[in-house]
Amino acid sequence: MSIHDLDFITQRLNELKEQGVYRKLAVLEGPSGARSVINGKEVINLSSNNYLGLANHPRLKKAAMEALEKWGVGAGAVRTIIGNMSIHEELEAKLAEFKHVEAVLVFQSGFTANAGVIPAVVDKGDIIISDELNHASIIDGCRLSRADVVRYKHSDMEDLERVINEVKDNYNTKLIITDGVFSMDGDVAKLPEIVDLAEKYGCLTYVDDAHASGVLGKSGRGSADHFGLHGRVDIQIGTLSKAIGVVGGYVAGRKNLIEWLNHRGRPFLFSTAAPPSVAAACLEAINILSESTELTDRLWENARYLKKGLKDLGFNTGNSETPITPVIAGDDKLAIELSKKLFEEGVFAQSIVFPTVPRGGARVRTIVTAAHTKADLDETIRAFEKVGKELKLIK
Ligand code: PMP
Repeated sequence: MSIHDLDFITQRLNELKEQGVYRKLAVLEGPSGARSVINGKEVINLSSNNYLGLANHPRLKKAAMEALEKWGVGAGAVRTIIGNMSIHEELEAKLAEFKHVEAVLVFQSGFTANAGVIPAVVDKGDIIISDELNHASIIDGCRLSRADVVRYKHSDMEDLERVINEVKDNYNTKLIITDGVFSMDGDVAKLPEIVDLAEKYGCLTYVDDAHASGVLGKSGRGSADHFGLHGRVDIQIGTLSKAIGVVGGYVAGRKNLIEWLNHRGRPFLFSTAAPPSVAAACLEAINILSESTELTDRLWENARYLKKGLKDLGFNTGNSETPITPVIAGDDKLAIELSKKLFEEGVFAQSIVFPTVPRGGARVRTIVTAAHTKADLDETIRAFEKVGKELKLIK
């Protein structure tokens, strides 16, 4: 036996298998859409983040193809050397206008935005006050910074105030971080209260709008817009990978913040710029959203319809307020079985189990999009009814 056989890795994989959490990736054959071919079968796709159906939109594809012809396939360097193309800057200017902020900086993904921005803003001697259910990329960004981190109970404003009071005299910068929409439950952060507390105690606010970009606020301008908090949230992160339909992340805020990140946002400095076709497609997506609220209106109409259908059947859909609707089964195996049986009925809805969600909170997570038709949603509701009764999740 040689160390190069990586037996310790095989052992870890076996442990995952014993715990029942080893998984194979589902395979999408063709574009992400309301209906997709998944593992060889055409099904209603209720698990993508393609909220507005933009991932396969003709206008985005045309913009990407034109950019491909004009600019080539790659940016050729990191932005700070010579990978900064005018199409990147055009996208940032458009996003800044769309978000009503002074400036925007685009990163290669939402994940790298969090991993880059947090360590650039806080350091030793600072404190991050973080919602306990914040996304993994926020957790990693916090770890990469040398700041201390303290967590408050999920969306519990009393606990947030208690934590602020506990730490407030011991640190320089105090940064409160929250997801705008929480990805497993589909609930919305209590941003107005968070901002009030931040202003009361002299903290900065940082909201990660990955699941709110293109979803919440007018034409998907995000959670600050949704709550009318323009100018009061210091740092807004958005993603271009979900509702915007392409890939990328960005930070929106004051000009000095963006200039600083230009010098100290490590993924911006050390990882190659997004391909120009990606920037062009994102720009076209923001153009579409700026022109009308049609797509976001349809998304919300569909979200309300499916959520009501599932609730009326008697499913536990938790505290969801957005197009993310969990159907909570409780037990891990039951959630996995629910997902499997739904697939047999022609619906792909991924199960999510411990440790991604707490024990006893295993679920199938549904994400409806603007591209789903009423017929898709009615078929989905029928499938949930049949399988839910079989598994005795509903009567
Ligand atoms: N933040 C949150 C809250 C997310 O849900 C996600 C995506 N899972 C990300 C950041 C990462 O975004 P991206 O996919 O653009 O890297």
